[in-house]
Amino acid sequence: MLLKNCRYIVTQNGSREVLENKDILIEDNKIVKIGEDLGEGLDCSEKIVMPGLINAHTHLGMTSLRGVSDDKELAEWLEDIWAREAKLSEEDIKEGKRLGIKEALRTGTTTVVDMYFRMGSCAEVAEKEGIRYLGAVTFLEDHPLSPATVELPKDISSRVQFCYGPHAIYSTSEDMLKQIKNKSSGKLIHIHVAETRKERADCKEKHGKLPVEYLESIGFLDENVTMAHCVWLTKGELDIIARKKAKVVHCPQSNMKLSGGGVMPLNEMQERGIVVALGTDSVASNNSLDMFREMHVAALLHKHHYWDPATASAQIVLDMATVNGAVFLGRDDIGSIEEGKLADIVTLNLNDENLQPHDKERIVSHLVYAANGMNVSDVIVDGKLISRPGRP
Ligand SMILES: [Zn+2]
Repeated sequence: MLLKNCRYIVTQNGSREVLENKDILIEDNKIVKIGEDLGEGLDCSEKIVMPGLINAHTHLGMTSLRGVSDDKELAEWLEDIWAREAKLSEEDIKEGKRLGIKEALRTGTTTVVDMYFRMGSCAEVAEKEGIRYLGAVTFLEDHPLSPATVELPKDISSRVQFCYGPHAIYSTSEDMLKQIKNKSSGKLIHIHVAETRKERADCKEKHGKLPVEYLESIGFLDENVTMAHCVWLTKGELDIIARKKAKVVHCPQSNMKLSGGGVMPLNEMQERGIVVALGTDSVASNNSLDMFREMHVAALLHKHHYWDPATASAQIVLDMATVNGAVFLGRDDIGSIEEGKLADIVTLNLNDENLQPHDKERIVSHLVYAANGMNVSDVIVDGKLISRPGRP
């Protein structure tokens, strides 16, 4: 496959180059050459070409619960959602995943981290729809859908894989967390941490420690642990995360919608070199899987919170949704458009009014402050063109 005459290529390479009027040659599932006059192919002369976005935290099986439980704070929302989830059939979950994956692809996401139950059969959907998929198998104490043993299903392909997803410290016992840690041997562990002030207070009362201190004390934290939210943390806990090289995924819209009150300490994380990826969380608390919306809100939230317009620049936020997402997943083969990387690429239509006028200097700005998922035109995952998802 050849992407011909790309008007702009937002490479996200080491020097964050934006290239103009170049071709991208793809062989099998890899980008093999970026240059000029490489042959005939898909005309991209009116397109922005960028790495596919990485949604590092969501729950696709909950897609059918979009809009059913709005305007509640987390504890009340969780109780309602868990009651509704208990009634979902395997087919409901599978259908939710199918819809969620289609929405993610349609809006420019090529990789998702999906924390949910019943992975074995549902991952078939991911395999069929063509997205890059990491299923974080959810473990919950005394939950009917939680697996009976801490075993993972076998990876389906190089594109569809599994990792551990213990739900949170308040919903998974210390014994189960330790069992998972012992079993994990190099696999990623994905967990919700410090989402609310209540979680922090409850953890302090129960364990005499704050959430990250507690996870460190049971030998849980290392570079394979990826934590969603991380809103209510002290500087001491941030130091622990940095020292252990654990990773963080920021979900600003879900935090704001569930009225968590706090703001994830982005600047303090950056000062410590903590890797921060970006995720939407589920559509039951967002209510969208559009990562362009998520980037936009992330940028605005932190500027407003820190009283500093230079905080969370367009480039910093785009990094969260691309290259940082790759590091979060422990991968060096996705997240940027470079020779040798896997071809996970999306294009946006420059003829759309909200992306005009344009030039090289403001194209990254457009991606974060002006674009939305409906500007996405072509989606390529693992070298395969997903036929204009959602468009006739
Ligand atoms: Zn979540």
